[in-house]
Amino acid sequence: IRVHKDSDKTELKDIFISVKTTSKYHGPRVKLLLKTWYLLAREQVYFFTDGNDTEIAEILGDHLINTNCSTDHSRRALSCKMAVEFDYYMASRKRWFCHVDDDVYLNVPRLVDMLQGYNHREDWYLGKPSLKHPLEVADRETPGMKLTFWFATGGAGFCISRSLALKMAPYAGGGRFMTTAETIRLPDDCTLGYIVEHLLKHKLTVVEEFHSHLEALWLIKPHQLDKQITLSFSEYSGKQNVINVQGFSETEDPTRFRSLHCFLFPNFRECRVLS
Ligand code: UDP
Ligand code: MN
Repeated sequence: IRVHKDSDKTELKDIFISVKTTSKYHGPRVKLLLKTWYLLAREQVYFFTDGNDTEIAEILGDHLINTNCSTDHSRRALSCKMAVEFDYYMASRKRWFCHVDDDVYLNVPRLVDMLQGYNHREDWYLGKPSLKHPLEVADRETPGMKLTFWFATGGAGFCISRSLALKMAPYAGGGRFMTTAETIRLPDDCTLGYIVEHLLKHKLTVVEEFHSHLEALWLIKPHQLDKQITLSFSEYSGKQNVINVQGFSETEDPTRFRSLHCFLFPNFRECRVLS
């Protein structure tokens, strides 16, 4: 299961990283990513959004994709974006498809390290559920019966190997992801779990180092931050859920992403003011 042949080692260039975003977050979220972890993976990252933005397109060029999906948080809009992400990944021919939301800090070297432990020619669905139990939904094919499956929370990030993505294509490729999502009427990340676990009978592999803002992020020990693959932030009714890291002030860096970036990579120019 583990890859040992050095010549076959997965590198950053083998990974397709997609970031889901929306027009209203270009300012508050995408710009923050462009100043932080994006700089470590410029060639690999594609932003999937729902509008044109000349300012960001100047930086991203053809790595900014207007999906033309609607600009709301509806199930259809989100699965429309995932459908486009999946098709771009398939066309990229990369070994790995990794997805994150625009409120995620991706620790790029840790992602590469982690993926080096798995063979892209085997079927892998790597991520982290936020529920403590599998999702249970009514089975539309057999009324009265229930389906249960695990899914990786989209907001924590997940990765899918090429081998598995090829098997998912009949349900997720060529725009069929939207049809699949509509048949079970579930959000995009749940739909992926449904395709992988229920339709293809493969299991989610839990990677503890993925973290969405559904977790208590402030509980992660500062000395363990460098081992984490993804981290996030959120605000619930005025209460911040952010990581605990030294660096810029809370007003300068409310999400803590700039501080985290400097904590992990102190040699960046933006980090000089801290030392
Ligand atoms: N998003 C989107 N369209 C919307 C709202 C959000 O594509 O109308 C994206 C957003 O850019 C992010 C993800 O969906 O990548 C999750 O959004 P958010 O963090 O606002 O909500 P959450 O579901 O995490 O509470
Ligand atoms: Mn979020």
